[in-house]
Amino acid sequence: MAQRNPLGVHALVWTGGWSPEDAELAISSTAKAGFDLIEIPALDPDRIDIADTRARLDAHGLQAGVSLGLAPDTDINSEDPVLIEAGRQTLMNALAVARGVQAPYLGGVIFSAMAKYLHPTTEASRRNSAAVIKELAQEAAKDDITVGLEFVNRYESNLLNTVQQTLDYMDLVDEPNVVVHADVYHMNIEENGFREPLLLCGDRLGYVHIGESNRGYLGQGTIDFDEVFGALVEIDYTGTITFESFSSAVVDPQFSRSLAIWRDLWTDGMDLATHARAFIADGMDRARAQQAG
Ligand code: MN
Repeated sequence: MAQRNPLGVHALVWTGGWSPEDAELAISSTAKAGFDLIEIPALDPDRIDIADTRARLDAHGLQAGVSLGLAPDTDINSEDPVLIEAGRQTLMNALAVARGVQAPYLGGVIFSAMAKYLHPTTEASRRNSAAVIKELAQEAAKDDITVGLEFVNRYESNLLNTVQQTLDYMDLVDEPNVVVHADVYHMNIEENGFREPLLLCGDRLGYVHIGESNRGYLGQGTIDFDEVFGALVEIDYTGTITFESFSSAVVDPQFSRSLAIWRDLWTDGMDLATHARAFIADGMDRARAQQAG
């Protein structure tokens, strides 16, 4: 029997801020809901009190992952050296957060702005982005931190929208601690299905976001989770699976606007998260039993 995947939940299920009170609410709720880790968004790495966060994680026996999306003024997927340097600095600051809270993972839309572009990318922009990610990955490797590229739908980046684009970009970066971060919400928009692209990732898949087609309760949208869980078992995926869901009930102004979270899909984060945890754990167990049988 394969080992159970570590299960995580994104902090935006609990709170949009990261004051000590917000951190305590998010971390204690994550532990109470039975998850192994919390994914902490570091869009503004400077607002995270590293020592305070680490102490609270320790107190609740939780691991952390760190994620972010770059902004238009920190866009490394660019031909403007000022933007590239600003993005490089933001990523290095986010890496310092990951190192400080002892997170083994730093990922997200770190290869471009997390924004709707009004133009296609250019080969020069793509190479500039890959050069910064290469430097980030080499720095991250010193602390055994994995760097994940979360390819997203066309409305949130013009650079990496599919698994194939992400694998090609990884070849350019060419660092062993860089992995594919697959989010089924985005795949649902851009891929032909789930099984084939996940099989294409194979052992280069390093982090998974599970979210519904409308980013609300799992099972209430149109995503074929049997296909998703089946494919993850098929490639022997043993990495982290993190639940992501967003509602206008919990807002981080920068984050929620970038992701176009305008509707109130849920109000009770604990009910949502405990349901999601069981949904993912049961789905993976069922897929494993099916493959074994
Ligand atoms: Mn995601």
